[in-house]
Amino acid sequence: MKLSKILSSYRSEFIAKIKKNTNNNTNKKDFNPIRLDFGSVVFLLARYFGFCYGVENAIEIAYRTVTENPTKRIFLLSEMIHNPLVNQELLKKNVQFIFDSDGQQKISWNELTSGDIIIIPAFGTSIEIEKKIIEKGIDIQRYNTTCPFVQKVWKRGVSLGDDNFTVMIHGKHQHEETKATFSRIKNNTPSFVVRDINEVKIISRIILGKLGKDEFYKIFEGKYSEGFDVNTDLDRIGVVNQTTMLSSETQAIANELKNAMIEKYGIENLHEHFADTRDTLCYATNNNQKATEALLTQNADIAIVVGGYNSSNTTHLVEMLEEKFITYFIDSAEKILSKDQIKHFDIHQKIEKVTNNFVLLDSKPTIILTSGASCPDSEVENVISKILSFLPFKKEFDDVLTDFV
Ligand code: SF4
Repeated sequence: MKLSKILSSYRSEFIAKIKKNTNNNTNKKDFNPIRLDFGSVVFLLARYFGFCYGVENAIEIAYRTVTENPTKRIFLLSEMIHNPLVNQELLKKNVQFIFDSDGQQKISWNELTSGDIIIIPAFGTSIEIEKKIIEKGIDIQRYNTTCPFVQKVWKRGVSLGDDNFTVMIHGKHQHEETKATFSRIKNNTPSFVVRDINEVKIISRIILGKLGKDEFYKIFEGKYSEGFDVNTDLDRIGVVNQTTMLSSETQAIANELKNAMIEKYGIENLHEHFADTRDTLCYATNNNQKATEALLTQNADIAIVVGGYNSSNTTHLVEMLEEKFITYFIDSAEKILSKDQIKHFDIHQKIEKVTNNFVLLDSKPTIILTSGASCPDSEVENVISKILSFLPFKKEFDDVLTDFV
């Protein structure tokens, strides 16, 4: 599916030309940043960023649904994707959200009828919610935008269960995608959700008898399948991930569990106790994170990441860049309030704050710029334009493009 099919307001001709040029690069392993020198400011643009296949697909289906059904009530189970700009546009078209992003139900099932349409978002949904929709007499397949890369994780989890492995799901327990994955696996096989490496270290200690088994039920309350038996269900484990987790942590988690199994059962028996299925991150997460790793080899004055504040993949890009750069996480160009002020999201305090003198624009700064998989390219261009608007002398977009090409 081409970006040209997506609503024109999400497109950026400038970014599209850059991406087209980088896509033509025969060296697929090239994650080097794209240098855009506007004369008085340099942007180092991540090699890969922005809308992924799953998001484009979901937006396309959602807008087609609106166009094809002018007289019907149209609901989205929850946010279409984790981007406020895209969600606001859908709300303007009278699409209503049944759940908010915290999982709170805003519209009760009683209010829905068989004449309504429900769009399933790119994250997918749980079996329990699918059943509710079917009970209402509403078709769950016709307007289902679940990303195929999410479905791949579900299949991997089910297949691990078929091979009698317990499934450890690495993800954010309250995230729609992880809820959907857990619901599909937990009825077939013992399973549980871990958030990070610290929680996997707890699992390792339980496996190795360094921590009481009953601790599992306390620490992972609400995050394990019904009837989970810690005496037997931690003997044979395979791992799947929420598709947008941090790649480095995913590998660390798999290694931690693998080492615990080697210590307990011996390397010769590893395959009986550990299934190495760590790589269920999607291609977009992998590409965007590798491109961000390449940004970390550069020198820059600041980094700006654009995307929804509740977007998992975008937050991970912020975490990575924060290791080296002063990083500002904004959800739109409007958050650059002036030449000196930026309103940005602090992922640690979970608040938006205003920072003064965020960059010295008079000294030809170098600014790293990237965005999450749910951020329209038009917003990345808007950020560039906004910063350029504060500068008296700068090259035109076309000239920069010519230099770049
Ligand atoms: S981030 Fe990956 S899994 Fe999520 S919608 Fe995009 S391609 Fe699909």
